[in-house]
Amino acid sequence: MPHPRRTALITGITGQDGSYLAELLLEKGYEVHGLIRRSSTFSTTRIEHLYQDPHESDARLRLHYGDLADGSRITTLLEQIQPAEVYHLAAQSHVRVSFDEPEFTGTTTGLGTTRLLEAIRMTGLPCRFYQASSSEMYGITAPPQSESTPFHPRSPYAAAKVYAYWITRNYREAYGIHAVNGILFNHESPRRGETFVTRKIARAAARIARGEQELLHLGNLEARRDWGYAPEYVDAMWRMLQTDTPDDYVVATGTSYSVRDFLTFCFEHAGLDWERHVRFDERYLRPAEVPDLIGDASKAERELGWKPAVLTPELARIMTDAELAEVPGARTPATPVRQTQS
Ligand code: NDP
Ligand code: GDP
Repeated sequence: MPHPRRTALITGITGQDGSYLAELLLEKGYEVHGLIRRSSTFSTTRIEHLYQDPHESDARLRLHYGDLADGSRITTLLEQIQPAEVYHLAAQSHVRVSFDEPEFTGTTTGLGTTRLLEAIRMTGLPCRFYQASSSEMYGITAPPQSESTPFHPRSPYAAAKVYAYWITRNYREAYGIHAVNGILFNHESPRRGETFVTRKIARAAARIARGEQELLHLGNLEARRDWGYAPEYVDAMWRMLQTDTPDDYVVATGTSYSVRDFLTFCFEHAGLDWERHVRFDERYLRPAEVPDLIGDASKAERELGWKPAVLTPELARIMTDAELAEVPGARTPATPVRQTQS
């Protein structure tokens, strides 16, 4: 007997993680629904290769307009889609930007989670819920950080994620909703947003190697992060929703490198000396910094059978190779994913 098709809803499907997760779930035979924001230009570059014409009756990827600010729309969509699994990845996800837009960050990154959980509670849908929690919640708490390490958020982004973490636990304890927190440490890929430091460095190394750019301006080079590979991390998200008892898990490599180390890995791989090309720019400093993150993912390994294969030096090479493979000037405007359900 074939398994009945499982249905998942991904918020943030157009982002780095959403695109890899959509790939993974489609490979596993899921029907995948994604929430996308209406904008004046298309934002679907990362999922273009997954496009299926929604007029085809066997299409398994379906997109719906919606925004985290709009709770009634989220409720309507849940009723319509009836997902078995909800992966809540959408957020204003940039730490530096959250200092400029603290209120917006709270409304989306924090309260957005409440709107989804409240929609699940009100509809009574027996679905499982994944919350994209973050290592930024640990802030200045000394490493290594595990599920029992206290939080000390250092940005409006991190404070909003701490709120979302606790509201997820609260709905689990208060209403018995099958809700989990994945506390993911930084994870990167060639699909990472271009203003995050790893992508910014890998992209600059390739552009400098091709003679398209001379200098790279950066802020704090001493910050240390536990950088893993995004495709492996979305697999951990899926595993978390397959357990019978909902719980919270750290996902990390257990190693930490500085921004300076990441620069060295990428520039050496591109055949360059970074010290000749990098300049300091204070605009990339944050009002409060997170100095050092190293995750202890032993619980995820023990209970989910999850273990990272790609560590930071290899990640830097993967990202630099992807940028070096870009043909100059060939980056055409994204071919749009043509139609949502709406
Ligand atoms: P991205 O920034 O790449 O993607 C964010 C997604 O959220 C995009 O699809 C974006 O849509 C969507 N979004 C933003 N605001 C809204 C809104 N108001 N309504 C609907 N959708 C919205 O993030 P990542 O994929 O890297 O991360 C996924 C999640 O995991 C985020 O919650 C992030 O904070 C969290 N996280 C990420 C880590 C990492 O290292 N990558 C580490 C720990 C946690 P659009 O394309 O239109 O902008
Ligand atoms: P974060 O860990 O979610 O804040 O991910 P980022 O990639 O944005 O930043 C990682 C670290 O790199 C932080 O400690 C930043 O202060 C540091 N950093 C140094 N220069 C830059 C820069 O130019 N851009 C960004 N985004 N971060 C920088």
